[in-house]
Amino acid sequence: MTSLLDNPTISVLPAAREFIQSKHQLFIGNEFVDAADGATFETFDPATGSVLTTVASGGAVDVDRAVASASAALPDWARTNNRVKAALMMRLADLIDENLELIAQIDSVDVGKPIATVRFGDVPMASDTLRYYAGWANKIEGSTITPGFPGAYVYTRREPVGVVGAIVPWNFPITGAIWKIAPALATGCTVVLKPAEQSSLSAALLARLIAEAGFPPGVVNVVSGLGTVAGVALVEHKNVAKISFTGSTAVGIDISRRAAETLKSVSLELGGKCPNIIFADADIPAAAAVAASAIFFNAGQACSAGSRLMVERSVYDEVLDAVSAEADKLVLGPGLDEGTTLGPLVSASQQARVNGYVERALAQGVEAVRGGKALGQDGYFVSPTILAGAADDMPVVQEEVFGPVLTVQPFDTAEEAAARANDVAYGLAAGVWTNNLRTAQRMAESLQVGTVWTNLYNYIDASVPWGGTKASGHGRDMGREGLDKFLQTKAVWNAVD
Ligand code: NAD
Repeated sequence: MTSLLDNPTISVLPAAREFIQSKHQLFIGNEFVDAADGATFETFDPATGSVLTTVASGGAVDVDRAVASASAALPDWARTNNRVKAALMMRLADLIDENLELIAQIDSVDVGKPIATVRFGDVPMASDTLRYYAGWANKIEGSTITPGFPGAYVYTRREPVGVVGAIVPWNFPITGAIWKIAPALATGCTVVLKPAEQSSLSAALLARLIAEAGFPPGVVNVVSGLGTVAGVALVEHKNVAKISFTGSTAVGIDISRRAAETLKSVSLELGGKCPNIIFADADIPAAAAVAASAIFFNAGQACSAGSRLMVERSVYDEVLDAVSAEADKLVLGPGLDEGTTLGPLVSASQQARVNGYVERALAQGVEAVRGGKALGQDGYFVSPTILAGAADDMPVVQEEVFGPVLTVQPFDTAEEAAARANDVAYGLAAGVWTNNLRTAQRMAESLQVGTVWTNLYNYIDASVPWGGTKASGHGRDMGREGLDKFLQTKAVWNAVD
């Protein structure tokens, strides 16, 4: 197996090639260091399965050093003039933009994402999120209260919670990291970032940019490593005040249990099984086209993937045909190939997991309208798969598949659609397609999710709160609410007489 980087038909920036193939270290106190025990792990090119390079594998000792560095930086950073905080964040945003193509190529190679989606989506969203939260740095306000005691008044201070452990998944590496770092910095917290082991490379570049932007040592530290080692050490560390986690529900539960031992606050952005519901009165061609992109974007590896398409019975056949026609247009290939619209999955284990869901569904009598067969080629590819005839209680309908696999099911009434859509463990997001305002509003109220998109899908913005209900987690990233979890309130009583 040769790496994508050795393919002469693929154009790669020399700087991207050099960076990707270099050995990556931890970033602690603005210095690049090896893991204390010298441990490393390999990271793979998902388009070919070949090894790209090695990454330092942080252990408990390294996490302890990073937390010590973040703790030492905390008092000064918390008291740093908010204009200075904002200026540093703006500088980092500028550096991300200046390195847009480099970052896009790194994440594309590392995760297999189609390059255009990283170039126009992930990276601009990362710099935009930094700028958005830079704007909040001087708008963190407390209140004054006249309590029920004569001769006293109270003011409240909104103070940073302390050192934040940010643990992120691999599906949106640069954006996921910035979603955590930006609000933490704006509120005066310091950070230890633990990127996912499948996608550590853009976090290593981000570390360079953080140093170049001029952040004081220790304000942001990056400890790459395994979840079960570095992740666990961060969650269990007594000097970490808060864990901000994005990832799977199973790991979110484990983190909650461990964090309870030190009474840390935890916020969880977890998995999803998002219904996308099309009513007969909708603009059907538009709804069907977006329904296809809702599931096939990022090869279905998105918490927000519209993996469960529900269609009013009278337009079911029309929508199924239209979505299938959209799937036929997809071009499978390596992320760096400009023509690719559907990249590989991130790892061999994800590929096996997704194929397993499809095989089980077919064995249960579900029909594969598209896909459904394992692809005999290198790399972790799964063809776009559309399944008809699935029952609500099947795993492929209930569980997060995290691949390019769509179930399409008919429904008869809005009440039935809402009840069935809610009858899953998850509650992250949902799509509703209708030209009837009342139907849209009723569905928005009925659906037990953190986000409802009506007549569009997958719109996400730094200014809009994002998060889930039920097994999709709690707490909100983004928007003004995204600041709350990094702040604690201190009430200061004062005698006036
Ligand atoms: P994952 O839960 O396996 O890993 C996420 C991160 O947690 C990684 O950095 C991993 O190393 C670390 N980790 C693993 N075990 C740990 C442990 N015991 N203690 C501490 N850290 C640990 O998830 P993944 O496979 O990397 O990502 C996919 C999942 O992320 C999906 O379920 C997806 O829905 C979810 N996700 C959710 C959102 C959201 O906003 N709700 C966004 C993106 C992804």
